[in-house]
Amino acid sequence: MFVSSEVAPYSKTGGLGDVSGALPASLQSLGHEITVVTPLYSSVKDGGHRLHKVYDAIAVRAADGNEFAAYLAEDGRTWFVDFPALYSRPAIYTNDADEHLRFLFLTHASIELCRRRRWSPDIAHGNDWQTGMLPLYLKSIYADDPLFASTSSIFTIHNLAYQGVFGSTILPQLSLGQFQHLLHQDHLRQGRINFMEHALLYADAITTVSPTYAREIQTTEHGAGLDGLLRLRSDRLFGILNGIDVNTWNPRIDRYLPAQYSERTLGDKEINKRHLLESRGLEPATDTLLMGVVTRLTSQKGVELMIRPLARLLAEERATFVALGSGERRFEDALQWLASTFPGRASFHRGYDEPLAHLIEGGADAFLMPSLYEPSGLNQMYSLAYGTAPIVRRTGGLADTVSHYDPGTGEGTGFVFDHYSEDGQMWAMDQALRTFPDKDAWRRMQLNGMAEDNSWERRAGEYDDLYRWLSGDPQ
Ligand code: ADP
Repeated sequence: MFVSSEVAPYSKTGGLGDVSGALPASLQSLGHEITVVTPLYSSVKDGGHRLHKVYDAIAVRAADGNEFAAYLAEDGRTWFVDFPALYSRPAIYTNDADEHLRFLFLTHASIELCRRRRWSPDIAHGNDWQTGMLPLYLKSIYADDPLFASTSSIFTIHNLAYQGVFGSTILPQLSLGQFQHLLHQDHLRQGRINFMEHALLYADAITTVSPTYAREIQTTEHGAGLDGLLRLRSDRLFGILNGIDVNTWNPRIDRYLPAQYSERTLGDKEINKRHLLESRGLEPATDTLLMGVVTRLTSQKGVELMIRPLARLLAEERATFVALGSGERRFEDALQWLASTFPGRASFHRGYDEPLAHLIEGGADAFLMPSLYEPSGLNQMYSLAYGTAPIVRRTGGLADTVSHYDPGTGEGTGFVFDHYSEDGQMWAMDQALRTFPDKDAWRRMQLNGMAEDNSWERRAGEYDDLYRWLSGDPQ
């Protein structure tokens, strides 16, 4: 059983949605019987998906007997919890006072759905703080249900920065009854309950989305206050890189691209570049390095590092730039400033736009990802697959997936800098600008990247091993 607050293509705000769509599908093709449980948000209900109501009224005893309906998607795997009082909201995540309840309900509902189906999972796999209480619930209020007697729990950290910390006044709503002593008592006394912390305390295994991030979060610098606990549990903490869904992110079949291409027809990428420049109102300067960005605009993503170096390169007419993203106002304003200051050379589209995200990957020459931290990162993997050189900072999953191009040996897949500074960012951009005119070298680097196998098929094998190890299956 895989529980997640977002599942692509139904609901997605970032990488978690992509993972929850693709990983279970890959595990299923490895032979696992897998159930994905997620809320029926109003955007999903109205999204034109074919969903079938399977159960009308499943009572959640822990939530005062509230009843939800359960819908199943055509994939036969993804189940939706229909409870409009909590999920009929304008956005997937809210700042509403009952945000904790929305996902506690999901957690209980996933268990109640198993009960209704008389389905006994070997593994209960939760993701991020929204499902943080799942391991504790299985070890407490649901522990006497024989259905879960041999269920092991896994919790995956997709981003340690979002922990789900609430005031201790929510205590009665956790429905822990006689098991309240299992909560972190010191923090409870200090007036807070941290959902993710409880997952780290009680999960049978913890994973995170890259080996480097798994190491980083055990340090004070990157541990967001939970590094001590993560170090304590390090024998149960595993870093498994995310993968990419090759049915969606594949330049050979990408329906959003005017020209599909492969290693053999890499020259056709230029058709996409021309189309991208034109559609964004930029000069048709195909000989100039075009750098792209697609991102949530939060401080994590390092947007602040790129503004001044880009302004310099744009002023000197050494590069063109296209950005897509939404988020914090200050970053939106900075990107908008670039676009207005350098019309014809820089463009910014504020918003969330799947087709444009694909066109940027397919049309840009290089992709910027100077993240402060990056648990896994997907866009740099998409870039590799699309022959679009990632320019990244050496952190988390970026460090695990991109290697710096060495013109001497012809090895490497992109440009990597170490120091989180404008100088570091500038240095890496400069390396790309120096390499770009050498068409043979650039092409070699593109082909190196395209040859990398970041598919979910490969990564799912690592989860498969972990699942089997946890459930005592020697196979
Ligand atoms: P994170 O999960 O931290 O946002 P990832 O790189 O792991 O970062 O995943 C981001 C995913 O969200 C990618 O699939 C990316 O294409 C998508 N994405 C982010 N912002 C936008 C946007 N404005 N429009 C379209 N897709 C976006």
